[in-house]
Amino acid sequence: MQGRREFIQRLLALGTSVSLPLGIASCAQPTVRSAQQTGVVLDPLFFKHDMAEHPENAQRLVAIDRELEARGLWSKLSPVAARLATREELEWVHSPGYIDEIASISEYGGGYFNPYVGDTYLTEDTFAAAKMAAGGAIQLNLAVYDRLVDNGFALLRPPGHHALEDKAMGFCLFNSDVIAAKALQKYRGVERVAIIDFDVHHGNGTQDLTESDPSIMAVSIHQHPYWPMTGAAELIGKGDAAGTNVNCPFGSGAGDQAYLNVFDEVILPKLRAFQPQHIIAFAGYDAHWQDPLAEHRMSVTGFNRLVDKLKQAASELCGGRLALSLGGGYELEPLVHSVAGSFEVLLGSELSKDVIGPSPRPENDYSRQLEILKRIHRV
Ligand SMILES: [Zn+2]
Repeated sequence: MQGRREFIQRLLALGTSVSLPLGIASCAQPTVRSAQQTGVVLDPLFFKHDMAEHPENAQRLVAIDRELEARGLWSKLSPVAARLATREELEWVHSPGYIDEIASISEYGGGYFNPYVGDTYLTEDTFAAAKMAAGGAIQLNLAVYDRLVDNGFALLRPPGHHALEDKAMGFCLFNSDVIAAKALQKYRGVERVAIIDFDVHHGNGTQDLTESDPSIMAVSIHQHPYWPMTGAAELIGKGDAAGTNVNCPFGSGAGDQAYLNVFDEVILPKLRAFQPQHIIAFAGYDAHWQDPLAEHRMSVTGFNRLVDKLKQAASELCGGRLALSLGGGYELEPLVHSVAGSFEVLLGSELSKDVIGPSPRPENDYSRQLEILKRIHRV
């Protein structure tokens, strides 16, 4: 972590083709220590991985920055500088050949990882941006673990939860959360880390990279069956790791009640049994009812309550150690309100009004699915 002035100078020194977000500049203002010290990671490289017509584009971060500025949140946050993940750190979860492939596509100007699928794009800056995202996740999680800040949120792009050992998919290149969990283990000797993914799509990459590892509990709440078609409830982890993979799939129309109830009745008891020393959350907001890429009916208020539950669980189990990293969310208005709401929860400041409100269509009832999940996980 470094001071705000150094943070700005570093950003300026890096240079960027996009104009620096206003809010970053306001970080140079003297700060009042808030009730909670909440760290934030943002780097110019995250704006340079960009394809305007793609749903996962840099405007998402530009809009988030504007909303944080409009709410006066930037001046309350503690910047944590990102850095490039090293080759060794990437190789904790990705194969050397895959890392070379990503480097090579970027070096030759970019393109799609798999042109036949055409979902995950790269630009000439993507290799650097993805390394900075993984390194940013490492730095934030270490800062939270070391209590330099109480909690934090890394505004990373490109995202990571679909990234497999040797494959990019679903807009994801390197699995930053799993790399950060490994960093906590290797650099700090942490024995148990929980990764909780509330993006509406199943965190298949995170599951794949951790399902045989009893030291990492991977939890995912997601729409199912739905892209990427993985994430069945019965997949609970392999061998010694049985019980540490927790899939919470819900069909279309699930909303605040399904997400909040499954947290209380399945995820929290599983966390209490696992006793994590640190919690990472992959914070995707594409379960919002206005999001075009899925069919769940979460509200901004629901996301605020879910993040508050995460914060309470971290407080009960691991000294409040909670670090979020940005996942999906492709309709800008609910995305920016949800992200800003998560920051307000992390800071412990007063919550802004949910101006979008709940879904006009009622949530579907998933109480039976909840009972099935409780049986599978014996909670
Ligand atoms: Zn998603």
